Amino acid sequence: MEDARPKLAIQAPPIVALPIVGTDALFPVRRVYCIGRNYAAHAIEMGHDPNREPPFFFQKNPDNLNPSQEFPYPPKSSDVHHEVELAVMLRAGGRDIPVEKAQDCIFGYALSLDMTRRDLQSEQKKAGRPWEIGKAFEASAPVGPVHPVSEVGLLNEGRISLTVNGELRQDGDLNQMIWKVPEQIAYLSAYYELAPGDVILSGTPAGVGPVGRGDEMELAIDGLGTLAVKVV
Ligand code: MN
Repeated sequence: MEDARPKLAIQAPPIVALPIVGTDALFPVRRVYCIGRNYAAHAIEMGHDPNREPPFFFQKNPDNLNPSQEFPYPPKSSDVHHEVELAVMLRAGGRDIPVEKAQDCIFGYALSLDMTRRDLQSEQKKAGRPWEIGKAFEASAPVGPVHPVSEVGLLNEGRISLTVNGELRQDGDLNQMIWKVPEQIAYLSAYYELAPGDVILSGTPAGVGPVGRGDEMELAIDGLGTLAVKVV
C-alpha cells in the first residue's frame, strides 16, 4: 500500500493543542484572534474614546499560546504589560454567523493573558504600522486549561481580575465588554471564515501595567478558577 500521507521536505511543526478540564483529549488550535479596547475603562486609560466604534482585531500565532504557567520576559522591550482576558475556544465556525447563533460555536473558555511589549506597540502605532512585534511574540499568550461549556455554561458575566504579587491590578466584569462574545464571533465571521479550533481573546479590563522578572501574576474569572503565571 502506498503511504497516503504527504511527503514533507522538513519535519512537520507540532500541532498546538491545549489541555481540557475533565478529559485527556486536547483542544487543537487553528487561529488566535484578539480584540482591542473592548472594555470602556481600558479604552479610556489607553487614551481612546470608549464609545461603541466598530471593533478591531489583531492576531497572535497559535504557537504563541503558552500553557506553561511561566512567562519568559521577551527581548527588545523594557515595558511589558499584563492584559488578563477571557479566551473563547470555538467548536464550530462559518461565515456570516448571526449573533443569535454565535454562542452555538463556543466549545469552552480559558483564563488567558495578552502579554504586550507596550513600548514596541506604541512605536508601531505612532508609525501607523501593524502591532505584531508588540503582540505576537514567543509565549506571549499564557493560557490555562480549557473549561467546556458543558461544564461551566455560557460566560456572559462574572468578575475578571488579575493580581501581581498579591496586589490587585485589574478588576472588571465580563458584562462590561463593549462588544460581547457573540457579537465578536458574528463580526469576525463577516471578515474571515471561522473554523473549529479558533480562539478569541476577548479583551482586557482597565488596570494594565508593567511586570518584571520574578513577578507572580494570578488571573481569576468567575467560573474558571484561577491561574498563576510567573515572569521568568
Ligand atoms: Mn488585549
